Amino acid sequence: NAKNAGKNRYCVFDDDMDKRLLRRLELEKDMRGASERQEFYVVYQPKWDAQTDTPVGLEALMRWPHPKFGVVSPDEFIPIAEETGLIIPMTRWILEEACRQNKVWLDKGMPSMIVSVNVSVRLFESQHLLYMVEHALRTTGLPARYLELEITESTMLYDVPDMIRQLNELREIGVRISMDDFGSGYSSLGSLDQIPIDTIKIDQLFVRESDSPSKRAIVGAIIDMALKLHLELVAEGVETREQIDFLRASGCNVMQGYFYGKPMNIEQMDEWLLQNAGRPSGETLV
Ligand code: C2E
Ligand code: MG
Ligand code: MG
Ligand code: MG
Repeated sequence: NAKNAGKNRYCVFDDDMDKRLLRRLELEKDMRGASERQEFYVVYQPKWDAQTDTPVGLEALMRWPHPKFGVVSPDEFIPIAEETGLIIPMTRWILEEACRQNKVWLDKGMPSMIVSVNVSVRLFESQHLLYMVEHALRTTGLPARYLELEITESTMLYDVPDMIRQLNELREIGVRISMDDFGSGYSSLGSLDQIPIDTIKIDQLFVRESDSPSKRAIVGAIIDMALKLHLELVAEGVETREQIDFLRASGCNVMQGYFYGKPMNIEQMDEWLLQNAGRPSGETLV
């Protein structure tokens, strides 16, 4: 009967809640020791300039193979790290790791690539970011111009009053700033000329849906505006030739996505660089 059905539904819902909560608690507990156990590792995803046919950047993305749950997505563990504050030591670690690795690639004579690290707004709240970045550059010897920080648009001006000052300080030492997932929500369209950034990354959603005329119109407008503000552009989540043709015709030449390369560990990235870097321009990528 209706009463029982309602009750059953409630129980199912409750079970799911319990499972989710338990998993969350377990992840939170295990994350505390994960750094010391060296469970985290970094994968790199290339950014490709389709005009010059060269790799121009690499994005460092964190991976956590959990002993019980398998590889946990950063979309799940980064928010927990942000809430617990663990994101601060984790970012310190990935910054240094990414700078060190990019220096290795530069020293090997690879085409110069800018390595980018995703940075949560929590790092700006902590007021330690500039110090952490300077420390990573100093200890690894990576010149600042080869480092970029990616900050998600939706969090960019999110109640951190001195965010702009901190961004300016980072740019003054030569580090580049990129606005990630642009267009994904809280559009900063109106204040874009006041935020000190170098690059806009067009959100994957727009790239994925760029066969819809209305989404095309939006992407076209974002690209026009970025070009007029002298910002650089990267399209993320590029998976098909059609998307590339459309983006290039609209004026965006730097692409990131599975079409060019998935996030890769260092060995895979070495192999990818060997195959794709330094090819004579004009040759097409498979
Ligand atoms: P993001 O910075 O916007 O990174 C792009 C995400 O899209 C990555 O997922 C990447 O693997 C995925 N991606 C790239 N190309 C394609 C494509 O062609 N198709 C599809 N379907 N997906 C593609 P990932 O690695 O799971 O990271 C998810 C998010 O987690 C990142 O989004 C970033 O916001 C966050 N994140 C990852 N590592 C870190 C980190 O070290 N620190 C912080 N604060 N956040 C991180
Ligand atoms: Mg990113
Ligand atoms: Mg993104
Ligand atoms: Mg994202």
